[in-house]
Amino acid sequence: QAKSLGRNQYCLYDAAMREAFEYEHTLLAQLKEALSNDEFVLHYQPRVSAKDKSVVSFEALLRWNHPESGLMYPDSFIDLCERSGQMTQIGEWVLREVIKQIAHWHVLGKDVAVSVNVSINQLFKEDFVTNLECMLDENDCAPNSLELELTESALTKGDVVVIKNLQQLRHLGVRVSVDDFGVGYSNFARLNDIAFDFIKIDRSLIASLPDNPQLVKMIISICLLMRAQIVAEGVENEATAQWLADHGCDELQGYLFSKPMSIDQATDYLFNPPKP
Ligand code: C2E
Ligand code: MG
Ligand code: MG
Ligand code: MG
Repeated sequence: QAKSLGRNQYCLYDAAMREAFEYEHTLLAQLKEALSNDEFVLHYQPRVSAKDKSVVSFEALLRWNHPESGLMYPDSFIDLCERSGQMTQIGEWVLREVIKQIAHWHVLGKDVAVSVNVSINQLFKEDFVTNLECMLDENDCAPNSLELELTESALTKGDVVVIKNLQQLRHLGVRVSVDDFGVGYSNFARLNDIAFDFIKIDRSLIASLPDNPQLVKMIISICLLMRAQIVAEGVENEATAQWLADHGCDELQGYLFSKPMSIDQATDYLFNPPKP
């Protein structure tokens, strides 16, 4: 009895494994077509000043308009993009779209910065900065309206090429920030070697506010030591926003202000920001 049960479980496990494998195989094939089929879209989420809640920038967030499953979120495909080596190409598409969008908003009379999530694999490329500089030039886009977000764990993996690229980016005037700060395994010595414009505190830490603020207080003192501006992610209620404004946080992002929006909605938001 036990033995046959064991075998059944083994079969089940085997079937689930195979299904997962086949799913990934199909997804990968579709992913390879996604760029040329124009299936990616960017949504934009505002970041506001902690003081007066005015919009200071947007974060561009990638979505995949999947032919069968509908709109897919990055958590369900970014990892596959990375593992299959497609993230550099997709990341380049994201950068180009965002730069065009910044330029377009500029033409409409709104100078707004946009931040882009960049995978560490993109920064391993020797010609990353040269390519980016070309895109900025071609679109007449001011480098300081572009911000690149890199995760803390990715940054501390950084080798010489990454460090060199980061220095060149800052020299160019592109802003660089640390994303998801406080939840990775940081090598603080290494982080301290690089100068950042912004540090974004991970939303899982922000969720503990305002009732359990000790950890966030500690993180804020580290950010101050690193001389970076502080951004809080995942701000979902007034009490949290108030706490952060009172404790030295510069900018806020989260559902309290807006969920990520389509380009049209974001443009509307820029021209008719909600009254505080
Ligand atoms: P992230 O860079 O930390 O982006 C913030 C995520 O938190 C977004 O999820 C956003 O929709 C979500 N969020 C914002 N405010 C709130 C809030 O108040 N509450 C909650 N619960 N969530 C909030 P999204 O769009 O699903 O993106 C997930 C992650 O995927 C991003 O995390 C980023 O690491 C990655 N990602 C997104 N776009 C790109 C891209 O173009 N390239 C790369 N390499 N990664 C990307
Ligand atoms: Mg981000
Ligand atoms: Mg984040
Ligand atoms: Mg994240």
